[in-house]
Amino acid sequence: MVRPGAGTVNARGGGPGAAGGWVVVALGSNLGDRAAHLEGARRGLFAGGFRWTLASPVEETAPLPGSTPGQGPYLNQLLAARRAEVALDPAALLALGQALERAAGRRRADQSRWGPRTLDVDIVLFGELVIDAPGLVVPHPRFVARPFVVGPLLRWWPGLRHPRTGVLLAAGGSV
Ligand code: ADP
Ligand code: MG
Repeated sequence: MVRPGAGTVNARGGGPGAAGGWVVVALGSNLGDRAAHLEGARRGLFAGGFRWTLASPVEETAPLPGSTPGQGPYLNQLLAARRAEVALDPAALLALGQALERAAGRRRADQSRWGPRTLDVDIVLFGELVIDAPGLVVPHPRFVARPFVVGPLLRWWPGLRHPRTGVLLAAGGSV
């Protein structure tokens, strides 16, 4: 259960090139018709109030180290919407993403945390917000270790700083 507004706002200024005014969502799929699952997520997010205008190329990536062995490669994509174009608070965006995961047939009981999944929708950034609520941590706690997330972020916003730490993001970084 996520309480809307439960997070604390980080007052650090965005500065040039920062993503302070953007909300970023990462999509992933490695089961079934992966491209169709991403397409369904893009449509569902937009229709649900996340009106993204930036979309990275869809990238094929190997499962992360530590994932359940034997699973196939992922298709991943990053979407970004201006905050003014997001009609949802963070909790509602999380709920929308989880509804889309269920609509894609994701079953948490048989698709374990690190196992294959039809669709994964993660909130990477919500502007400069820093949120520590049960069930919702923003920025996403593991995004700096994921090249398919950091790559597009740095192409869109060179000089982007991590909203929690203020540290400049770097390709291959580990903040
Ligand atoms: P992961 O995406 O880390 O591989 P899951 O998709 O199974 O794992 O998500 C596990 C839980 O992570 C979800 O129940 C959700 O409540 C929680 N969660 C915490 N922060 C976030 C976030 N920023 N975006 C999406 N889910 C999050
Ligand atoms: Mg997830």
